[in-house]
Amino acid sequence: MSNYVSHLECSASGERLPSDSVTGLSGIGKPVLVRYHLDQIAASLDKKMLARRSGGFWRYREFLPVDRPEHRISLGEVMTPLVDLKKCVSGHATVKDEGRLPTGSFKARGLALAVSMARALGLKHLAMPSNGNAGAALAAYASRAGLRSTVFCPDDTPEINLSETQLQGAEVLRVDGLINDCARFVVQGTKKNAWFDVSTLKEPYRIEGKKTMGLELAEQLGWQTPDVIFYPTGGGTGLIGMWKAFQELQAMGWIDAPLPRMVAVQAQGCAPIVRAFDAGLSHAEPWENAHTVAAGIRVPAAIGDFMILNAIRESGGFALAVSDAEILKARSECAEKDGLLMCPEGAATLAAYRASLETGQVAATDHAVLFNCATGLKYPLPKVTAHVEAG
Ligand SMILES: *Cc1c(COP(=O)(O)O)cnc(C)c1O
Repeated sequence: MSNYVSHLECSASGERLPSDSVTGLSGIGKPVLVRYHLDQIAASLDKKMLARRSGGFWRYREFLPVDRPEHRISLGEVMTPLVDLKKCVSGHATVKDEGRLPTGSFKARGLALAVSMARALGLKHLAMPSNGNAGAALAAYASRAGLRSTVFCPDDTPEINLSETQLQGAEVLRVDGLINDCARFVVQGTKKNAWFDVSTLKEPYRIEGKKTMGLELAEQLGWQTPDVIFYPTGGGTGLIGMWKAFQELQAMGWIDAPLPRMVAVQAQGCAPIVRAFDAGLSHAEPWENAHTVAAGIRVPAAIGDFMILNAIRESGGFALAVSDAEILKARSECAEKDGLLMCPEGAATLAAYRASLETGQVAATDHAVLFNCATGLKYPLPKVTAHVEAG
């Protein structure tokens, strides 16, 4: 599609697939990745040209699969800021605040790409399971593109997510179960409803959108990378996507090794990747009875588990689980001391960073980037109880 896409590729077998037709999983049921003519991108684009472009992830269009400008769906994306934490933690930590994107989360990056490609390929109706933020981003970008969307959410998804998704034009259905149960409904309804499944990593393009976090971070740091990245990991698209971005930039000679250590952060109530990492496994067993306040990372089984584990290990990183109590404590301390209200998933990365400083897994002099993937305003917050009588 793009002038620079060479082909699609199965992430597990390496099998090549054509890039000009609707694609879901590969023949063996694994995620499919987009490959580019990186030499041609390097020949037609340089860092100075890029620096003159306006903000937002479409500035990286050469690295993305959408070729025609009229196919790029936009809701006014911005380059998300890097906010240093000065008081709530020691060491050297910067938050990449993804809550500033349209629909208030970084799911906008992936869904903008998936919806743009869906429209370019002639699809009409998209469906997905969602813990909240992905559904909202799908709804907004699909409506913007004139496509239908249907979203299945666990019954206890934060109410604001259900409402915003519906208001933005999606059909929203509550499911008495977890995200994996929702996913079953999407798969089962595919034939009957003729919708296309845009679940995490079940089509090739959401990850390309998430990849822009890595491109953007590198550009913001003057084409350097931090020492370590803490990422709240559910389906893992962001972690895999950033790792792909760094490898593409490295192959083009735009950044030098060493690449950052990638740290997957999960909640103790749902930590399949942490368990698999610690056990030295290459795949993760599904987590039973998943529960955590950090809804976005309540993913008991991730189809890209082997890619997440690969990226962590290749980068020399690690995986860490934190408790809900630590998450909520980190959220309130960061808000109170540094004025930054993180989402629970973002706060989980702060809790994990703190724990890693204590164990020495990360040095205080290491530059750590923590991903706050949604605005804290989307989540239930503590009630104010203090009051005074008016008269
Ligand atoms: C979806 C989501 C995550 C997890 O992202 P993945 O890339 O799917 O692992 C983390 N935090 C928030 C706020 C999310 O919405």
